[in-house]
Amino acid sequence: MHIRDPKIIARLAELNVELRRGASLGGMTSLGIGGTTDLLRIKNHECLPELLNLLDTNDVPHKFLGGGSNLLVGDGELPWVVLQLVRPEPDVVLDGNFAHVDAAADLGRMITFCAKKDLGGMEGLIGVPGTVGGALRMNAGAYGMQIGSYVREVKLYRAASRKIEVLRGHQISFEYRHTSFAPDDMMLAVTLELPSKSYQEILKGIRICNEKRRSSQPLGQKSAGCIFKNPPGSSAGRMIDELGLKGLSVGDARVSDRHANFFVNAGKASAKDMLTLIADIRERVQKSYGVSLENEVVVWNA
Ligand SMILES: Cc1cc2nc3c(=O)[nH]c(=O)nc-3n(C[C@H](O)[C@H](O)[C@H](O)COP(=O)(O)OP(=O)(O)OC[C@H]3O[C@@H](n4cnc5c(N)ncnc54)[C@H](O)[C@@H]3O)c2cc1C
Repeated sequence: MHIRDPKIIARLAELNVELRRGASLGGMTSLGIGGTTDLLRIKNHECLPELLNLLDTNDVPHKFLGGGSNLLVGDGELPWVVLQLVRPEPDVVLDGNFAHVDAAADLGRMITFCAKKDLGGMEGLIGVPGTVGGALRMNAGAYGMQIGSYVREVKLYRAASRKIEVLRGHQISFEYRHTSFAPDDMMLAVTLELPSKSYQEILKGIRICNEKRRSSQPLGQKSAGCIFKNPPGSSAGRMIDELGLKGLSVGDARVSDRHANFFVNAGKASAKDMLTLIADIRERVQKSYGVSLENEVVVWNA
């Protein structure tokens, strides 16, 4: 989608929002799949109520992009614009055991920054790409931990009130890859309370998690992490593996040989290829196990 109305373009400039025309989402997502649209880069949180009002009153649909590591985006010219926060400097401020973190901060860099100040707890998330805002939205987790356990406060733009608000940790529910935020809420910043641990001890945990990832995931290949959520008490990857489906392909979309719940873009896969592969695998698992797999990957189809 292209914003052409000169009045909107002028207002975006007044709000200090950078307009990048015809951005390729294929180049901004870890799967390397996705068409083009205008990208709006937001430099200050406070403009959001006005910006959203401007887009809504002019019928400009929008989606919110973090680091693009959990997304499967449709092909071709996309029928919505994309909003993205610009990372401020500094993006993490520490106060005792509290870390105040901007949503645009890189998750891995935030974890190592805190580790160097003897604050741990998040070792399991090392190696999870993307932003802190994206991790919060999805309640990212791994190896028995999840980011939600450390959240004490979230600053967000609330779609319901059209205002920037602050929620305390106990007002938010964090479940397996699910949170109580509304679909249009935008995470802007978070306060995490992290346990004190020596850097050496944290580093040991980080090395163990890195090794586990290296030995089980196709890290050099384009993916969006796990495609399906694990059904309660079961493993999506194990079922796909037991059905002998590793390596199954549609065009260049392929079930990883390494981890059956990672689907990779082995070349020039299109969103259509990947969606066909996902539908095929879901159907086979449903037929054999009677389990309907739910997407973990977020699909933005045109
Ligand atoms: C190799 C690899 C390994 C992975 N391993 C794991 C893992 O172990 N555990 C795990 O949980 N995930 C894993 N993932 C998936 C992904 O990295 C995480 O879900 C990550 O937290 C997504 O963050 P992001 O910023 O990239 O979000 P995006 O992919 O940009 O967006 C995902 C969703 O969050 C929304 N969103 C993003 N930022 C915001 C914001 N500030 N406010 C509101 N909504 C927002 C988007 O609109 C979208 O709906 C892995 C991915 C890869 C490629």
